[in-house]
Amino acid sequence: MTRLHTIAQPVTLLDRAIVRVLPAVPRPVVQLFSSRYIAGPTLDDAVATVRVLNAAGKMATIDVLGEEISGEDETRALVVAYREVFDAIEANGLDANVSIKPTALGLHLSYELCRENVEEVLRAGAAHGNFVRMDMEDSSATADTLRLYRELRESGHENVGVVLQARLRRTLDDVRALADLRPSVRICKGIYLEPASIAFQDYEAVRASFVRCLDALLEADCYVGVATHDEWLIGQALERVAGMEREQYEFQMLLGVRESRADELVAAGHRLRVYTPFGERWYEYSLRRLQENPAMAGTIAKATVGRLLGRG
Ligand SMILES: Cc1cc2nc3c(=O)[nH]c(=O)nc-3n(C[C@H](O)[C@H](O)[C@H](O)COP(=O)(O)OP(=O)(O)OC[C@H]3O[C@@H](n4cnc5c(N)ncnc54)[C@H](O)[C@@H]3O)c2cc1C
Repeated sequence: MTRLHTIAQPVTLLDRAIVRVLPAVPRPVVQLFSSRYIAGPTLDDAVATVRVLNAAGKMATIDVLGEEISGEDETRALVVAYREVFDAIEANGLDANVSIKPTALGLHLSYELCRENVEEVLRAGAAHGNFVRMDMEDSSATADTLRLYRELRESGHENVGVVLQARLRRTLDDVRALADLRPSVRICKGIYLEPASIAFQDYEAVRASFVRCLDALLEADCYVGVATHDEWLIGQALERVAGMEREQYEFQMLLGVRESRADELVAAGHRLRVYTPFGERWYEYSLRRLQENPAMAGTIAKATVGRLLGRG
């Protein structure tokens, strides 16, 4: 897989503006610059990537890219794809679990359909002694995803975890509401831009919320996946996990982001899991990653302008 390395360069307001309108950028340009964030189009690509991660002492969570699902058949096909992922994890002796997106499994088509699909994935995972993390999507899915998580746990599924987003004002309440389940939680900032009425807008406010939620999760004796590349937050987490058993928490990062920092955390004895997406539907995931990478903005801007000028 091609790895593109970020070239440090000044980020201008114009660069940032261009990154925000990335959907207008030609797909081949997006693909070129996002290849570092994705294992590749096939399951074999994911297996090869996870092998490399495991060899470096990192665990993985494999995501089958499946956004823009429009029909029930596609959701069922995704369940089959996840079965194949579990088979491949076992066959190759990989240290990996999976991450799923409820909307890709039908959440916006029908709650019941989604629940059926998620339960099938959970059963397939359980048959392999494996674990399933439900990613958290935009706020249109938050309440249903948390309802689904509770229902799954209450109906006896143990191999499932959830994600909470520090950006949302509701999250500390959600931690408290879930505490009786002692959930396995990935805490992250939250990638989706949400209105001020429901989400903190200020960078420092999101960080402060992250720390409050992390404290509440640890207080509730939850297993926490600390998912961030933010050095300040990593520092806050390190202070809090000092003295804890290694098996009680993990750090999590995205494929292609801050790899050397991940190596350092592993060398220091922490468990670290890398989010490893693969599949043909790479476009939406890539846009989100590129929008978060300010250093990439200028490079994309130049490539795009170059292309457009070339066309003219
Ligand atoms: C394992 C994992 C799972 C996640 N799951 C979800 C989820 O289910 N739902 C959800 O809403 N969000 C999820 N996210 C995304 C998360 O919410 C943030 O959007 C993302 O991690 C960026 O926030 P940050 O904490 O890294 O801080 P930031 O302030 O965004 O980043 C800190 C620094 O990390 C580096 N960095 C960050 N992103 C990039 C990038 N793309 N390319 C290059 N450098 C970068 C930069 O140096 C940046 O200054 C997940 C993140 C991780 C790591």
